[in-house]
Amino acid sequence: MSPARLRGDELPEIRTSEVPGPKSLAAAKRLRRVEGSAIRGLDEHGVVWSRARGAVVEDLDGNRFLDLTAGFGVASLGHAAPEVRRAVAGQAGRLVQGLGDLMPHRERERLVRALSKVGGRQNRVLLASTGSEAVELALKTAALATGRRRVVAFTGAYHGDSYGALEVTHHPVPPAPLRAQLGGWASHVPYGDLAGLDRSLAEGDPPAAVIVEPIQGRGGTVLPPDDFLGRLCALARARGAVVIYDEVMTGAGRTGPFWAWERSGPDAEPDLLCAGKGIGGGVAVAALLGRPKLMDAWRAHVPASGEAPHASTFYAHPLACAGALATLKRLTAAGFREEVERKGRSLSGGLSSLARRHPGAVEVRSIGLMAGIELVRASRDPAPDRLRSIWHALLRRGVLTIPSGVHGNVLQLLPPLTITDEQLMHGIAAIDSALEGQS
Ligand code: PMP
Repeated sequence: MSPARLRGDELPEIRTSEVPGPKSLAAAKRLRRVEGSAIRGLDEHGVVWSRARGAVVEDLDGNRFLDLTAGFGVASLGHAAPEVRRAVAGQAGRLVQGLGDLMPHRERERLVRALSKVGGRQNRVLLASTGSEAVELALKTAALATGRRRVVAFTGAYHGDSYGALEVTHHPVPPAPLRAQLGGWASHVPYGDLAGLDRSLAEGDPPAAVIVEPIQGRGGTVLPPDDFLGRLCALARARGAVVIYDEVMTGAGRTGPFWAWERSGPDAEPDLLCAGKGIGGGVAVAALLGRPKLMDAWRAHVPASGEAPHASTFYAHPLACAGALATLKRLTAAGFREEVERKGRSLSGGLSSLARRHPGAVEVRSIGLMAGIELVRASRDPAPDRLRSIWHALLRRGVLTIPSGVHGNVLQLLPPLTITDEQLMHGIAAIDSALEGQS
């Protein structure tokens, strides 16, 4: 039986002879019978989570996994971080649902002010519940502020799955009937290609915006050239286009500084910033932060009475606001960034030395606690099979990672920022041994 308490700093422990174990398999089977088939993964992976603390996830069979995914980067302070738990539980006793956009509540006021503080010059805030919704808000803001339609995005980009976000997403490509319903107002230039960007900005209708991930996440942890963002800003602004950074994955201290763009210096400062995932520490919250002049573009479109042009039932959900407030406090506390950077250096050092020993790891790309291990050169087949087999080998060793990359060839790591040194080293050693078994 599993112990009563999970601390969160444990190392993984697999108790069943197969992973997934029998209870997970049975629950996954029951779920599969009634869940819509858009959601994939269960057939193959079937590990059903039961609880999680820190960097440890326990499944229904009592297997303990080291979580190098942080639930897609959301559990920035680890799963069920004490301050997030306390804040959400306290809030649940006071106010669980408000009146969305129609009436504010205390935590909405506090969270918006806290986000405004971390935004720098992007200090006007609109809340959202998901990263995709924050992207929608950014695209709408740019359209309202410029009166223009066209948006330039990049190959390999992932911005979410709602229709506006899908329009600027490049990978994965949605099925044809869904593509047919998109608006056709976005074009994609190769990520990192400034000459291509300049050409695209110049041709056709004047552009409303350029949207970019400072580091591509789901596309395969792709780092652009150092001067990319600064030069992108200059090119976009020369054409009157709004610069939108999608920091849903890279923000909230994931790469060290609160925003990943900060590494590129003041010339790289955006106009609009999308945040999500890690800012909530586990609760479903996201936000658009922007320069006041741009964000004020909504004013002209908000009628004095009647329906607002942007509203949402769960706008500023009180539980989410409370959790995010507690998370932001810790993420911005003195010394937190330095700790992430220190662990980031060990991660990057560990992965690079592993890559030198294994010809099967062709490249390691790592910054702060965001890392990708390219397992096969993109052009070589069959990359997805190799990724799947290493992903499974790690699962059997009790380590959770994210399969990613435009070519299905990158193993992604997004551990909780609070992962212990011992857990981090254990994770690297497990990857080492999984690669050993494959080479
Ligand atoms: N933008 C980026 C860069 C992301 O990585 C994601 C999620 N992986 C999103 C947007 C969409 O966020 P959500 O899934 O919360 O809608």
